[in-house]
Amino acid sequence: MGDRKHIIYDPARECMSRDELTAWQSEKLKETVKREYENVAMYRERMDAKGIKPQDIRGVEDLKYLPFMEKTDLRDYYPFDLLASPREDIVRIQGSSGTTGKPIVAGYTRNDVDVWSTMMARTLTAAGCTREDIVQVAYGLGLFTGGFGAYQGADKIGAMVVPMSSGNTQRQIMMMKDLGVTMLCCTPSYATYLGETIREMGLVPGKDIKLKAGCFGAEPWTEAMRVKLEELLGIDACDIYGLTEIAGPGVAFECLEKQGMHINEDQVIPEIIDPATGEPLPYGESGELVFTTITKTGMPMLRYRTHDICSLTDKKCDCGRTFARMSRITGRTDDMLIIRGVNVFPSQIETVLVRAEGVAPHYMLIVDRVNNSDTLEVQVEMTEDMFSDTVSHIEGVRRYITDQIKSVVGIAAKVTLVAPKSVPRSEGKAKRVIDNRKL
Ligand code: ADP
Ligand code: ZN
Repeated sequence: MGDRKHIIYDPARECMSRDELTAWQSEKLKETVKREYENVAMYRERMDAKGIKPQDIRGVEDLKYLPFMEKTDLRDYYPFDLLASPREDIVRIQGSSGTTGKPIVAGYTRNDVDVWSTMMARTLTAAGCTREDIVQVAYGLGLFTGGFGAYQGADKIGAMVVPMSSGNTQRQIMMMKDLGVTMLCCTPSYATYLGETIREMGLVPGKDIKLKAGCFGAEPWTEAMRVKLEELLGIDACDIYGLTEIAGPGVAFECLEKQGMHINEDQVIPEIIDPATGEPLPYGESGELVFTTITKTGMPMLRYRTHDICSLTDKKCDCGRTFARMSRITGRTDDMLIIRGVNVFPSQIETVLVRAEGVAPHYMLIVDRVNNSDTLEVQVEMTEDMFSDTVSHIEGVRRYITDQIKSVVGIAAKVTLVAPKSVPRSEGKAKRVIDNRKL
């Protein structure tokens, strides 16, 4: 599939020279800092406390002097105290699921909705979308940014949008088949579920289902999962990253080279910092991703700590874009599990499971504490074939996975092979960890 020609939505921006880009970023950063200082009391106080005035920020090189923003700020100043534009200029509110407590909300001006739509139009184009395509949006349409982001991007391109929202799998597949949908937008876990259901219904990708590509994100997934998904649906599966605080999906996106996600650097400036000290780290090193929005006016974010862990590269990409790329998210500073003193990321376990024969990529990690010692149970579904196989074969697979986890992750886990379809499916973001130690 690598022979498909790269198409670029906004070549004047996406392929600009690094010098041009730095000059643009510096200008926009200065404007944003000034706007924030003049309009957001919380940030002005934070800058004052550090002894920094807007005029001290002369360009991107001075970014490191600015104070950070955090998710807790969105809760503490909920709902409108971080707005840097008059309340009546806000034309949209989106929110994040906020599984615990109050949701966080972000306010968008007309300009911000347009900035976001542009980022999503670039994203879909990079995965091969043109106005001839039919785009099925199976991310939730609502406060969650996934659905609206995909809708706006496809609409901007002029493609035909099918705004299904999430859930109702049978109906999703019926529309996909009847309309001849060519592109799919949803979480990678839901895409896998759709793919499996399509196969079970006896439908053949490439024949009954015309999908050619998909933009999958909103939750972490692995390279091994991509291979599986591309096979299952016969498509190019591109990774897409974003977060409500910064805009929504489309902050970064993969082109068909699939070598990391291009960051929309004319709209946001990325940094990688050491999560413990806050010090910026050079390209290539892994750390916490931090974003500064430079074109948003409703609720600009300066040095927003995402807690997502990845690395950046500015190596040239064969697609022609000059925007730096971020690696896959390997974990979050706050979802890293510390099990018997070992740092464990769910993505490491997923990699092992997706590579193993006889199991499906549906799993759950259950962490507990028994007699003052941490335990990890990995529940993973068997495929239908494996389920009806001999007990000794099943036991062999179980032992193999246990050994692999031990050697890749470095800890002993109890592996349980469960019946097909017994791990709960999610139509939105997959929940894959139950940590009973926190109860
Ligand atoms: P919430 O998850 O709190 O509802 P968002 O919907 O804004 O909030 O989700 C943003 C978060 O989702 C990111 O900070 C990141 O952790 C995760 N995420 C989004 N896209 C990806 C991706 N492609 N890979 C890994 N994680 C992702
Ligand atoms: Zn590229």
